[in-house]
Amino acid sequence: MLDDSIKYFKNLEELYRNFFRKKLKEDIFIREKLDSLLQAINNSRKAFIETGSFEFCAKCARAGEKCCQAGLEWKLNRSEFFINLLLAEKTGFSIKLNLERPDDCLFLGEKGCSLILTPLFCRNFFCDKLSKFLGHKKLIKIQHAMEDEAIISFQLADYINKKYIIPYLSMVR
Ligand code: SF4
Ligand code: SF4
Repeated sequence: MLDDSIKYFKNLEELYRNFFRKKLKEDIFIREKLDSLLQAINNSRKAFIETGSFEFCAKCARAGEKCCQAGLEWKLNRSEFFINLLLAEKTGFSIKLNLERPDDCLFLGEKGCSLILTPLFCRNFFCDKLSKFLGHKKLIKIQHAMEDEAIISFQLADYINKKYIIPYLSMVR
């Protein structure tokens, strides 16, 4: 239900603003990792652009394919959501929630995903027609380019989870 996810992520965003943001921003480990993560995300994006993957998916979406469906927002965990809010502030973007299209993922905007760090599930999703379009060589190129993003985002999310989420679990349920 989109209503449940809207409530959940809005509540999490409010908690972030009122309680977690300051703590996370003052943490030196997080500050350093965010810089390398941003760099890694840019490298992955470059590979998606160079291989024509973004363009292929954009065309497919314009043709009406429903790929980013409602419910997939739950693939993003709390730490990854906080990482997105930190990255959004750092880069001057904002994470806009889809409040109008109940069949679409909560993070699907007019021009595609509004997240900066997407969930692992989405990063690893290559449908049959996209895989066929890319072919083996380009798929390997993308997967190779995404390795740093996967490693750094895992380290950062794990750190935030252990140090900031688990101790305050009663607040963020
Ligand atoms: S992943 Fe597949 S279904 Fe989804 S937008 Fe790309 S080509 Fe279309
Ligand atoms: S890529 Fe973004 S919009 Fe699409 S399903 Fe994943 S989180 Fe949702």
